[in-house]
Amino acid sequence: MAKMSPTKELAVPTDDPDPLGREPSEEPPSSRTALAKVLTVKEHLRRKREYSGLIPLSEKSLRFLYDHYPQATPEDWSNWQWQLQNSICTADKLQNFLRLSYPEILAMSQSRAGLPLRITPYYASLLDREDPDQPMRRCVVPVSSEFMTCPGESPDPLGEDHQSPVPGLVHRYPDRVLFLTTGFCSTYCRYCTRSRMVGNTTKFRVSVKQWDQAIAYIERTPSVRDVLLSGGDPLTLMDSQLDYLLTRIKAIPHVEMVRIGTKVPAVLPQRITSKLLKTLKKHQPLWISIHFTHPDELTPETSAACNQLADAGVPLGSQTVLLKGINDDVATLTSLFQGLLKIRVRPYYLYQCDPIMGSGHFRTPVQCGIDMIQGLRGHTSGYAVPHYVVDAPGGGGKIPLLPEYFQGVQHGQIILKNFEGRLFRYPDAQA
Ligand code: SF4
Repeated sequence: MAKMSPTKELAVPTDDPDPLGREPSEEPPSSRTALAKVLTVKEHLRRKREYSGLIPLSEKSLRFLYDHYPQATPEDWSNWQWQLQNSICTADKLQNFLRLSYPEILAMSQSRAGLPLRITPYYASLLDREDPDQPMRRCVVPVSSEFMTCPGESPDPLGEDHQSPVPGLVHRYPDRVLFLTTGFCSTYCRYCTRSRMVGNTTKFRVSVKQWDQAIAYIERTPSVRDVLLSGGDPLTLMDSQLDYLLTRIKAIPHVEMVRIGTKVPAVLPQRITSKLLKTLKKHQPLWISIHFTHPDELTPETSAACNQLADAGVPLGSQTVLLKGINDDVATLTSLFQGLLKIRVRPYYLYQCDPIMGSGHFRTPVQCGIDMIQGLRGHTSGYAVPHYVVDAPGGGGKIPLLPEYFQGVQHGQIILKNFEGRLFRYPDAQA
């Protein structure tokens, strides 16, 4: 197939894939909101009844909207651009929603070039105002422990920068590549593996020119059959930008499969619009891996977003990072994984937290991950049990870890331990 000329056959998106075209820490004024009158509860409720968007507005969201954005309407709240424009990016703004603890204030008072603060109003509505230890709050609000470095931590523990043949593309496994589409996310997770680059638009500014270089690399590398679009969060790109990327990549004859890694359905479910669904449908087959952390993320909004994606024919999997004090117990993970199946998301990976700088307060011992799998396997549906993997430092790739079900071989028989700890002999076949 002839190489497609983007300038002739596709509308080339703006050169800057940052959906807001600005630094993540900027706070644009919402002129529409500033001029609007304050709405009464009655008016909010009336407008909510009339609202007919794809993603519902839960009672929790409505209460938060009324309490914190009295000038905005349910339609504003349900507009993903409004969510981005009104995201919380400063400590001053955050303390309108949360009573900040000392470690949180300390972290935000230190100026350093690191992972910025950014939380969508929707995700902020799920945070506990009083409890700094609430799992979801710990995921997105910085604390002073981020400034403490433990042995073995590094800014790029997976060695991605060394396995990058062109900027914005990581080629680690023989047949697949990781395509870093943007450095922007609607909400930044404090334990992010790519915290060295996400939100850092000075050092890691992604451009369409960079996309084209990555696409050219895939075009001249026939061993690549699988492309994972990640970042940053690809679903924060505009529809036209996603369409451009997907069209260019899908036009490469040896690319058999495209996946998108995103946290959008959990932090910005309003992004799942009919126009986005149309774009995704146009580029089937397409797989989406959604980053989920805790069962409290499974709200009516997120449930609707996942169901809409599934209805559009997109197979959905989940990725979860195992985090100390957040989801490192079997009951929490069982609730998360069973809840995901109910909204048509198949739990896919449970990741050991990567040793990025300042991640000591998030990381669990590896044995904890093995214990989690032991507590899940056999105790819930197999579909609710993800693969527990450690991404090997230095670029060794994902290594799956399992409890010791295989106990050895005796007299030609395999000794196996089941989920209850009972031993069984399996008569092995002759080689
Ligand atoms: S959504 Fe993904 S890429 Fe963005 S901050 Fe969270 S973990 Fe990092």
